[in-house]
Amino acid sequence: MPDQTGRIFEIPPRSGAAFTLDAGQRLTVIDPQGEQVADLLAYVRGDTSEVISSGRTLDYASRLFLTTGDPIYSNRSNVMLRIIEDTVGRHDFLLTPCSADTFRIIYGDEQPHRGCFGNLAAALAPYGIGPDQIPIAFNVFMNVQVDGQSGALTVEPPMSKAGDHTTFLAEQDLIIGLTACSALQSNNYAFKPIHYRID
Ligand SMILES: [Zn+2]
Repeated sequence: MPDQTGRIFEIPPRSGAAFTLDAGQRLTVIDPQGEQVADLLAYVRGDTSEVISSGRTLDYASRLFLTTGDPIYSNRSNVMLRIIEDTVGRHDFLLTPCSADTFRIIYGDEQPHRGCFGNLAAALAPYGIGPDQIPIAFNVFMNVQVDGQSGALTVEPPMSKAGDHTTFLAEQDLIIGLTACSALQSNNYAFKPIHYRID
């Protein structure tokens, strides 16, 4: 495969992609138009049963909102990715990828879109990763507000503006799944693309 370093890739609205990232490489997720979420998954390339873990990461960070300097841990407590640059500072690591079930249950859609979940499952299938291996994604640019007393969650428009980005350093050889999120609430009711770059 030709060297793709530094090239900008586009994920069209309501779709997803999967690709490999070598240890030491940086993945930059870019919001080209603003107010668009990207669901990010990472698997260890040599053993795809090791995957990013919201529970472990938030436990060790003792914080809900992660930004520059924060590591993202696996289900085996190994650091998989580290956030090394972040022009937004608000992301979500609580909610599962939107799915046909999300659209059926929350939006009442009768013929629901397959959502980030279906897009991730399709993109990751060639790597031998099945739908039951999809955990809570790191939802880049997703703005979930939490009421400190009741714990009530509300999905607000992302704080990202056109050109904002977040950069992750790979600490291991990884398989990455990445989407341009398909949920209306998450993206302020407009579906836009996501860009990414590997350096
Ligand atoms: Zn989504």
